[in-house]
Amino acid sequence: MSVKGTLYIISAPSGAGKTSLVKALLEDSRDKDQRVRVSVSHTTRAMRSGEQDGVDYNFVTMDWFDSLIADNQFLEYADVFTNKYGTSRVWVESELRQGVDVILEIDWQGAAQVRQLMPDAVSIFILPPSQSELRKRLTGRGQDADDVIDLRMSQAASEMRHYAEFDYVVINDDFSVALAQLQAVLTAQKLKLLNQRTRYADLLNDLLSV
Ligand code: 5GP
Repeated sequence: MSVKGTLYIISAPSGAGKTSLVKALLEDSRDKDQRVRVSVSHTTRAMRSGEQDGVDYNFVTMDWFDSLIADNQFLEYADVFTNKYGTSRVWVESELRQGVDVILEIDWQGAAQVRQLMPDAVSIFILPPSQSELRKRLTGRGQDADDVIDLRMSQAASEMRHYAEFDYVVINDDFSVALAQLQAVLTAQKLKLLNQRTRYADLLNDLLSV
């Protein structure tokens, strides 16, 4: 029997640095020849400048999104503020079956749905180091009005209120420390008895036959 991939759920408020951390995590796992992929979600929100359809998200209309729901195509889906987001069920299940680890970058509502369906999923919440640092990160280039930043802060707070539902919590103060902590979670998961027992079945048989 081959080792099945692990499903990781990574959630964070906007401004915590989740996307950059996940990108660095992927680059590192590629260097180490580990099989880790990030699920590309579907969303009804408008594409931002610099984003690519099919790479950052699959950008779809509301009707298309609704037809995917009706077709049972989503592992989870949720309204996040004013837009809809969903994770492709078929893609995730097929990667896991092939032994690929899959990362879902989703909000707390999606995380709760996936936890129900797949209790073996490993969930990680990323937090900023302080309220003032979060505000600084959400202020961007300083071009936004105070009420826009206040709205982003309150949206961040409503996501952060769910940190205690996760298996692991990482504080992203120093980027390289936070990255090392995420890598540690992935490494610990690989070393779990059930995974090692399957991966090293021949070795274990040999060692125990002495
Ligand atoms: P953004 O629009 O800024 O890329 O993402 C907004 C929020 O939607 C983030 O909290 C992000 O984690 C969440 N999100 C992205 N994709 C999905 C998804 O497939 N499902 C759920 N539930 N949330 C998602």
